Amino acid sequence: MSQDKQPISTEERDKFAQKVRAWLKRNMPSKPDFRLPLTFMEIDNQAQFDYLCDWQCRVYEAGYLGMSWPAEYGGGGLPQVYQDIVTREMARLQAPFMINAIGLSWAGPTILKLGTEAQKKRYIKKILSAEEIWCQGFSEPENGSDLGNAQTRAVRDGDSYVINGSKIWTSQAEYAAHMILIARTDPEAPNKYAGLSFFLAPMDTPGIEIRRIRKMTGEYGFAQTFFDDARIPADTLVGEEGQGWNVAMAVLAFERGAALGQAGGNIMSVITSRDLVETARKSLRDGRPALEDVRIREQLVQFMIEERCLRLGRQRGRDQRLLTPGREFAPMLLGKLQGSEYMRRMAAFAVSMQGGQAPLYVDDPMALDGGVWQRQHMNSYSATIGGGTSEIQRNIIGERLLGLGKG
Ligand SMILES: Cc1cc2nc3c(=O)[nH]c(=O)nc-3n(C[C@H](O)[C@H](O)[C@H](O)COP(=O)(O)OP(=O)(O)OC[C@H]3O[C@@H](n4cnc5c(N)ncnc54)[C@H](O)[C@@H]3O)c2cc1C
Repeated sequence: MSQDKQPISTEERDKFAQKVRAWLKRNMPSKPDFRLPLTFMEIDNQAQFDYLCDWQCRVYEAGYLGMSWPAEYGGGGLPQVYQDIVTREMARLQAPFMINAIGLSWAGPTILKLGTEAQKKRYIKKILSAEEIWCQGFSEPENGSDLGNAQTRAVRDGDSYVINGSKIWTSQAEYAAHMILIARTDPEAPNKYAGLSFFLAPMDTPGIEIRRIRKMTGEYGFAQTFFDDARIPADTLVGEEGQGWNVAMAVLAFERGAALGQAGGNIMSVITSRDLVETARKSLRDGRPALEDVRIREQLVQFMIEERCLRLGRQRGRDQRLLTPGREFAPMLLGKLQGSEYMRRMAAFAVSMQGGQAPLYVDDPMALDGGVWQRQHMNSYSATIGGGTSEIQRNIIGERLLGLGKG
């Protein structure tokens, strides 16, 4: 992936940003007559899926996605800074998010880093164009944080591996063409990590069954996935048999933001403190807009300051000159923990500001702004759990950044 070895001039940067803004204004789809999901983890029906796939495909065809991925596999072969500008402009205009989040942000970068030439040629372009959606089969009913203990079995049989077991909380399982899957190939290995292997499993394999799971928001979006003698091609193995833990760690580094190389674009709706201020304007306190309450204003300013710090932290994480050698991953790693916890607090605050309207949910005609904050509040827990819970993130920061001993 091309990094910023040759920074572009401020003039070129501004010119490019203007071009992107103009393209987005011309091409952003109009709001549909159905409710869109807030993140890639809540795709609930075919209409949402088609709308978001179509948008991602258009962005890719315009050259605005995977801009820093190698051109020979379908990327743009450009310095990362161009993609960062596009992603920022998309956020600014609150463009719909990129649906193929798992493909773009963790499966794709992992294949580019560790996949074979044939795998790169086979998968990368269709990740970018949203022709093939990806899901992730890591968590199991009994093994979530303790991923190294995964018990789903993979047994080599000729040109195939036969998979048996179950994965859970599989986001987008019912729409995915492929799953990044960790399974145990050697139950007798000297330690639990050595017995794991990593696959790019085709989801249309006979023996794979998907059962949708409903969230507290009322939406579907993830599922439990069952494997019953599901026979997947052996050439979907990434790395060597028994090296799956290393590959899974590479995925998690992308997922937790500790490594860069994602294709770009936002993978969730962009909600900011500006939206919070609007809500304060519309919410009433003793008959007056909450925005006029000095205690509310103080908290709003705190949120704005924190948001600015998070943005600067992300920028810093992308500038090689500002990173501490050996700890280059620090700002991005902190960003996942701080960003997800920030969103959770902000959504809770937005709901609490609404007083008597706070308990009203999305289909209630009296709900403020269609209940968007109530939905956001419940959804905001997802990011503090998926990709490693906040507690696990704190453990990693304690152990790897601060050098504290294992808890
Ligand atoms: C919306 C959503 C989408 C998801 N999508 C996917 C997906 O697509 N694919 C996938 O594979 N998984 C997915 N997950 C699953 C997610 O990765 C797991 O839920 C997460 O890793 C936690 O695992 P668990 O649920 O088994 O909880 P557990 O591991 O059982 O943890 C329970 C509690 O104990 C705490 N805990 C556990 N171990 C420690 C420790 N060592 N130190 C301190 N505290 C600890 C945790 O922080 C948590 O609070 C998704 C989850 C959500 C919420």
